[in-house]
Amino acid sequence: MLIFYTLLALVALRVILVLVAVAVLVGPVSRCPACFQPTVTVRRRWLRPVRGIEWHWCAACGWQGPGRCAATARAPEIPDAPAS
Ligand SMILES: [Zn+2]
Repeated sequence: MLIFYTLLALVALRVILVLVAVAVLVGPVSRCPACFQPTVTVRRRWLRPVRGIEWHWCAACGWQGPGRCAATARAPEIPDAPAS
């Protein structure tokens, strides 16, 4: 039984390492890497439990793939108008 738990722990460790590597390697995607057109975010049921990863689809060439969620865009700071 000890061998079973050891092998199970090694499989779990491998799965965790793969998930960490995927989380680090997947970058933010706002444009298609093939044709540089804007992509559309597609909801995938199997990707729902994963936070921070979205599925993107390019309407121009049909490319699809994972990408990190885009950070919320911050409004640009507008300098104060000079007093008149
Ligand atoms: Zn494309």
